[in-house]
Amino acid sequence: MSRTLFRNAMVFDGTGAEPFPADVLVEGQRIRTIARTPGQLNADGATIIDAHGRTLMPGLVEGHAHISFGGAVNDKDLGDIPPEEHVLLTMRNAKTLLDHGFTSAYSAATSKLRLDVVIRNEVNAGRLPGPRIRAASPEITVTAGLGDERKKHMHYESFGMIADGEVEMARVVRLCCREGVDNIKINISGDDLGPLARGGITTMRESEVRTAVEVAKDFGKKVNCHARAANSVKRAVKCGVDVIYHCESADEEALDMVESVKDRVFVGPAIGIIYGTIHDGEPWFSKEFALEIGMQRVIDDSLKVYTEFRKRGVRALIGGDYGFIQSPQGTNARDLKHFVDLLGYSPSEALVCGTKHGGQVMEMGHELGLVKEGYLADLLLVGADPLKHIEKMVDEDNLHVIMKDGALYKDIAKAALQQEKAA
Ligand SMILES: [Zn+2]
Repeated sequence: MSRTLFRNAMVFDGTGAEPFPADVLVEGQRIRTIARTPGQLNADGATIIDAHGRTLMPGLVEGHAHISFGGAVNDKDLGDIPPEEHVLLTMRNAKTLLDHGFTSAYSAATSKLRLDVVIRNEVNAGRLPGPRIRAASPEITVTAGLGDERKKHMHYESFGMIADGEVEMARVVRLCCREGVDNIKINISGDDLGPLARGGITTMRESEVRTAVEVAKDFGKKVNCHARAANSVKRAVKCGVDVIYHCESADEEALDMVESVKDRVFVGPAIGIIYGTIHDGEPWFSKEFALEIGMQRVIDDSLKVYTEFRKRGVRALIGGDYGFIQSPQGTNARDLKHFVDLLGYSPSEALVCGTKHGGQVMEMGHELGLVKEGYLADLLLVGADPLKHIEKMVDEDNLHVIMKDGALYKDIAKAALQQEKAA
């Protein structure tokens, strides 16, 4: 059994507790011992990594992953990518996520039905580098909803699968289950970046949402939804959706409803793309356009809503729709800083959203998302104090060690040593 000993680490364990100095021994896939008194652990046969006081923390969990999205300006661009290129793009994105410290990815949606599934299977089989993946369905939507890009005279593909009425909804959800997804995604509201239904419109009927959830539960799957309008959030809670994304227009009644199921549901603001559309949209989106379609309003409303969620103990996830041109894949950890700057979270609270809550939404909260004895050894050794400089989590050069499942994926000290030897 392989053994790795981290000596002299400052452990941020993912619970939000103050970091503490410790030695951490990994055996096989798991964290065997955390010794708060340094120098106590038997290092026989272990690879020793001297942390020199650097922060050892859980691997990040991308809570709104779109592994198959890459560089799209419009949703329709994803439909234009041929399947063969799309597999390769998704494969590269999976590696990019792991390179940037994301050892797990909870997929919000894929853009062609089997993309998440096939990459998850390849990663699990050890044939491709990538995070642990919970694979999602495409964005299941209704005619005229977010993801329906067709015109009366012309067919278009995007990231959507269209299902109208209970019969079609049941069939489409079953199809996704048959093809191996772990999560079903439904678009209950529209979106201000989309061409048709705006974010304030609730497009999916209650009977359709209820059918999607019923069928998904029968197959043991989780359900994610896109819900911006207050009504869409209420519909999601009422029908038993597990992960409710966006929510910025939630009113008092919607907030109360979400709070009433806080032990069961997660929320995710997906704020990265909104910020990106305003500040990194040029030349594809002008700042004027971003403001005209209400991107700053989304940020302002999200601050109010997520301040309430935080006070009420509703668990939030990081992940900001990375994979569009204004929110490139690999910059996903920017969300941590956005949670602090835009939504009022402390750095420690933001990191909990990216670690502990992530482990829970993966349905592995008993063994993933914390630095804890017996837990899976998904670990990062960070060359900056994330509680003081959370923005430094974005730069892969600051991730000195990346361990997934007890295996060292990256160790810069070892890489430097090998380079020296070669020279
Ligand atoms: Zn999304």
